[in-house]
Amino acid sequence: MPLATVRATFAAVVLAVLSACSQHPGASFDAAQREARDSFMIAAAHPLAAQAGQDILARGGNATDAAMAVQAVLTLVEPQSSGIGGGAFMLYYDAGSKGVQAFDGRETAPSTATPDLFLKADGTPMDFWDAVVGGRSVGAPGVLRMLELAHAEHGKLPWATLFQPAIRLAREGFEVTPRLHELIAHDKYLKTYAPARRYFYQADGSPLPVGATLRNAKLADTLEAVAENGAEAFYEGAIAGDIARAVRNAEGNPGKLTAADIAGYEAKQRDAICRPYREYKVCGMPPPTSGGATVAQILGILESFDMEAHAPTSADAVHLVAEASRLAFADRNRFLADTDFVEVPLEALLDESYLKRRAALISPRHAMGEAQPGLPAQQAAMPDQPSGASTSHFSIVDAQGNAVSITTSIEQAFGSRMMVRGFLLNNQLTDFSFRPEVDGRPVANRVEGGKRPRSSMSPTIVLDEDGDFVLAIGSPGGSRIIGYVAERLVAFIDWDLDAQAAIDLPNYTNRNGPTELEKNTAVTRHAEELRRRGHVLEVETMTSGLHAVARTPDGRLQGGADPRREGVVLSGVR
Ligand code: GLU
Repeated sequence: MPLATVRATFAAVVLAVLSACSQHPGASFDAAQREARDSFMIAAAHPLAAQAGQDILARGGNATDAAMAVQAVLTLVEPQSSGIGGGAFMLYYDAGSKGVQAFDGRETAPSTATPDLFLKADGTPMDFWDAVVGGRSVGAPGVLRMLELAHAEHGKLPWATLFQPAIRLAREGFEVTPRLHELIAHDKYLKTYAPARRYFYQADGSPLPVGATLRNAKLADTLEAVAENGAEAFYEGAIAGDIARAVRNAEGNPGKLTAADIAGYEAKQRDAICRPYREYKVCGMPPPTSGGATVAQILGILESFDMEAHAPTSADAVHLVAEASRLAFADRNRFLADTDFVEVPLEALLDESYLKRRAALISPRHAMGEAQPGLPAQQAAMPDQPSGASTSHFSIVDAQGNAVSITTSIEQAFGSRMMVRGFLLNNQLTDFSFRPEVDGRPVANRVEGGKRPRSSMSPTIVLDEDGDFVLAIGSPGGSRIIGYVAERLVAFIDWDLDAQAAIDLPNYTNRNGPTELEKNTAVTRHAEELRRRGHVLEVETMTSGLHAVARTPDGRLQGGADPRREGVVLSGVR
């Protein structure tokens, strides 16, 4: 069966199952009708996760409650992407105060980690995949501590209730989706360690087929312990002990994480980066992700251009977005890292007049080639790591008008490939620079004990002039996340596209290298023109996973799910 048919069949099955819900898998049907009456909405990467969130919202839970249920179910049904063995960033919009809070659940390096963690004996960097698979790349997980922090402040329904949908599904089983099957079938490393090998493959070694029922009693037990005894059950005691043991004993590539590192993990509240763009205010996540700052720089640079005058898939739009993005990435690669360890000149990087000067470097007709960072720097730039097929983003608006925008990740697809008690452990430490210094200068994002690796995750919330919620959006996609999100903010704000139409646009971006165009889309027709302007092009598959919820000026909710993945938008009335 061609993949499109599999997707359609899968969507039809899901649709039948969810007959009582409003749902649209990456395309709008009965949209106007639904939007008119809905008071809450959720967009997430898997129908069962979205449904768990929808049930919580329908029962009177709020966006934070729903987020917990969604994350717990994603751990089960989208194990390749995110989970309690990984980290996340969450932006929260409070309808009462109109404030935006940033919650940091990023993994931390073991306290004994040193800058040479990913160097071989001869002082050269390890091969990327040699670093990923095994214990070395595993950071102390942050997801549950982050949700605990957010729930303590904003949760309405009891903590234990929010794990029940995931526990039930883990015991009863869920169907392997086409995407999960494809990823299992093509993964070169998932058979490395017995727990994941036994879970994801059949006795004869073949990958679980599409539609196979997958049960996960171990995860159900883990979640039950967390439901009953709180996040402590994960961070202190037997579960943490098992994680540390697995990491330290990982055959071929042991790591340094200890039970004390896990017990000492702290989620943090940080100040969201909120900057004006046109008549809106765009709020993003501060370091240790580079997402919020880099998206803000791209928009700040584009503010100098009349983007409205260019069609979304025109050569001019691609050129300007690519050039702005190139400039922003030059600064990102040089300066951004965990601000608890490194001084990052955030204010200077986001200063309006600085961004105007950066914008003045853009010629409408000629690509500038490699951009240089715009501020004096003591540090060396960090080369980019490959983008994975992992990570997940979900957006939620509840009946009170609160909103949540969460990007959550175990880094590469299936993370470190190490599975403990039913969940996969992240490989997030490979988001550090493998080289501690370049040309004798330190790299800001070098490994240090207790530090958080630089991320690109860019959960975003947009507010209008009155401070009212307008849009929650984000995406997976490694460092391309930044471009995926920035392009959609321009689409939503300058091109006035609805959430789904914005997500459906072709992806195009530039990470201070080649201009990347999404294969088989409308923008590739400009290849010749863009080359004439001096762009080096790469035309490739760009699997974003954008999920958005928006509120229109007349108060209706509107959702968008990325057709490149398996996500859906669900909604309802409360
Ligand atoms: N680990 C990446 C980050 O934090 C996300 C990986 C992905 O989206 O593929 O930026």
